[in-house]
Amino acid sequence: MPTLVMKFGGTSVANLDRIARASKRVAVEVAKGYDVIVIVSAMSGKTNELVGWVNETSPLYDAREYDAIVSSGENVTAGLMALRLQEMDIPARSWQGWQVPLVTNSAHSSARIEEIPTDNINAKFGEGMKVAVVAGFQGISPEGRITTLGRGGSDTTAVAFAAAFDAERCDIYTDVDGVYTTDPRITDKARKLDKIAFEEMLELASLGAKVLQTRSVELAMRYKVRLRVLSSFEEPSDDAGTLVCDEEEIMEQNAVAGVAYSRDEAKMTLISVADRPGIAAAIFGPLAEAGVNVDMIVQNISEEGRTDMTFSCPTDQVARAEKAMADAMASGEINYHELVTDNGVAKVSVVGIGMRSHAGVAAKMFASLQAEGINIKVITTSEIKISVLIDRKYMELAVQALHDAFELEKAA
Ligand code: ADP
Ligand code: ASP
Ligand code: MG
Repeated sequence: MPTLVMKFGGTSVANLDRIARASKRVAVEVAKGYDVIVIVSAMSGKTNELVGWVNETSPLYDAREYDAIVSSGENVTAGLMALRLQEMDIPARSWQGWQVPLVTNSAHSSARIEEIPTDNINAKFGEGMKVAVVAGFQGISPEGRITTLGRGGSDTTAVAFAAAFDAERCDIYTDVDGVYTTDPRITDKARKLDKIAFEEMLELASLGAKVLQTRSVELAMRYKVRLRVLSSFEEPSDDAGTLVCDEEEIMEQNAVAGVAYSRDEAKMTLISVADRPGIAAAIFGPLAEAGVNVDMIVQNISEEGRTDMTFSCPTDQVARAEKAMADAMASGEINYHELVTDNGVAKVSVVGIGMRSHAGVAAKMFASLQAEGINIKVITTSEIKISVLIDRKYMELAVQALHDAFELEKAA
């Protein structure tokens, strides 16, 4: 039997009615003759609630317990969907990560998948099971503890299963009908894309477009998974949604494919550190060890052997970063005058493969932000993206201005 992977995100399983609706969609594929692997998220809002409880109980929590707690939302939806399918006379069974087992490394709260043995699930398909409903987002470490794959990780579970089971396609059902030129919640001018190249999707995802988790796009690219994003609320058709595919499959290309944003960024500046060889390692080593995901980095011009070092990280990692820097100061590894944190910034980025061959994208971006009176605090670039850090209060305005400036409402 050909295998299909169908993933339903939080809003698509938000209550019993939605689970019933998603189950009907699964039934359609079962009727076509597929063995279906369904990956489910927790009901929308559930994971946030669980994370909130963790933070309230222990701000610098033990990540092993965080995973034990926040993985639980998916267990509920997996069981409920299996029950709903059984009510429809479809042989279905739920699977928690450890039962598969989906084996990850031990990097709790952002674990990487190491192995998905197919034997257990295939044996059940052999015995007549038609649908395996797998709890997304979770796995088991070599030490036998529950792990999670980072927020949005069910997408990655889905693509990894599609690769492991050599599925015909991996369909990601969500609350939008595809990948847009920017988050359709920010501007109604956002345009749905029929196709997007893996590399562009990878950049958009890593720069904040949460429609797909970054790691899921990486895996799809590496294992050549046919990855489709589509709405769980609309009637499906064969060409519904957005196909994430190779660059070669896309004919026309704008210089910029899309605009992404990341709201919860913090900018931290170490004032007056010694400008000496090894200072960057002495700062960013402890930050890495503390699990802080440093993004942008800027070092100022030095004056009298001292300099300022600025970096950005997600706001929920500020406490860890502050502690890591205070500890490094106490142990004499670094010496700084002050650590200044700005919790009110956001990152806005433009992404496009076309930038490789189009000059002037950066200039146009900066001019359009200037026209709105938006000050740029930090800039970073790569071959196919430009990112700026700005005051959070201007984030929506910046996304809209850039969408207009690059005329993304028009197809190429
Ligand atoms: P799910 O719960 O199904 O995993 P998510 O909330 O994780 O859904 O992702 C879907 C959301 O991603 C959309 O509701 C939309 O607001 C947001 N989003 C951000 N950028 C984009 C984009 N470029 N295209 C489509 N959706 C986007
Ligand atoms: N429930 C998890 C989260 O909210 C995983 C997912 O939905 O993909 O991050
Ligand atoms: Mg998601």
